[in-house]
Amino acid sequence: MKERAVEIRRITQKRPDIFLLTVRSAALANQARPGQFLHVKTDECTTILRRPLSIHRREKQDLSLLVKVRGRGTRALLRRAPGERLNVIGPLGNGFTLSPFPDGGTTMLIAGGIGVAPLVFLAQRLTGTAKRPSTGRKIALIGARTRGEVLCAPEFRRRGFTVKKATEDGSAGRKGSVIELARDLLAARGDARPLRIFACGPEQMFFRLRAAINELCPEPERVRCQVSFEQFMGCGVGVCCACAIPTRQGYKKVCKDGPVFSLHELKERGTE
Ligand SMILES: Cc1cc2nc3c(=O)[nH]c(=O)nc-3n(C[C@H](O)[C@H](O)[C@H](O)COP(=O)(O)OP(=O)(O)OC[C@H]3O[C@@H](n4cnc5c(N)ncnc54)[C@H](O)[C@@H]3O)c2cc1C
Repeated sequence: MKERAVEIRRITQKRPDIFLLTVRSAALANQARPGQFLHVKTDECTTILRRPLSIHRREKQDLSLLVKVRGRGTRALLRRAPGERLNVIGPLGNGFTLSPFPDGGTTMLIAGGIGVAPLVFLAQRLTGTAKRPSTGRKIALIGARTRGEVLCAPEFRRRGFTVKKATEDGSAGRKGSVIELARDLLAARGDARPLRIFACGPEQMFFRLRAAINELCPEPERVRCQVSFEQFMGCGVGVCCACAIPTRQGYKKVCKDGPVFSLHELKERGTE
């Protein structure tokens, strides 16, 4: 996969620690699938390793990344300016699988914090540009620490999703984690109508989600659940193995085999 220098179109600060970075590249935009990521050289001198960032949105030839400032790399990215060239490799990774889904089923998106980033592009694809948009109930669960940190609710609503929120301090929606919110909804369903879930967030969230599905869904093995990892990563192209995770089929690399995995195939660390 070759590197490209793409033009930075806009950098929009959403909150003190969150910004939207938009680049223009028709080639990247045409190839990109929801759940894939760009491996970004944040600048020429601050960091050696690239930083993986999910494709958050596509508008014609533009791709946007939603970035949470964490450390040196993301801070350096925020200092970049429109008109500059950004060195990226991608789109990388497998992305979400959008196989046919029965009419009348429920599509549930679950976002923990900045895990919302790839799910907006997914919602865009599920509703807007899909050859045959899915029918049935569409619901987006967004988790954050506080009301002010809830991200992207309008983007999901605009695409026909019912939005439900969970905040740790109870300042918006259900008090608690987004998985507790998911548990409430799974418990209230109580039937075996088709359900597919797409989730992104911290790794521990996935195992709590699996426990909830096993406990509350009448036929847990029929729930289609794909989860996207935000794993620490080195090379991004399957060489260094820094991002390996245990699965039922042995170790897999988040960068090349993922970042999207079926929830059923994951193994908790320490149980391999
Ligand atoms: C496939 C994939 C997609 C991602 N998509 C996005 C995205 O769309 N938006 C976004 O903001 N972030 C995303 N991330 C996470 C992002 O890559 C890291 O936040 C980023 O690399 C941090 O770089 P930094 O130099 O700012 O921080 P560093 O200086 O490297 O780290 C600062 C602190 O941040 C935490 N941290 C760093 N990297 C990670 C990580 N990968 N996972 C969890 N915690 C980490 C650690 O606690 C660390 O101490 C994604 C990660 C992966 C693997």
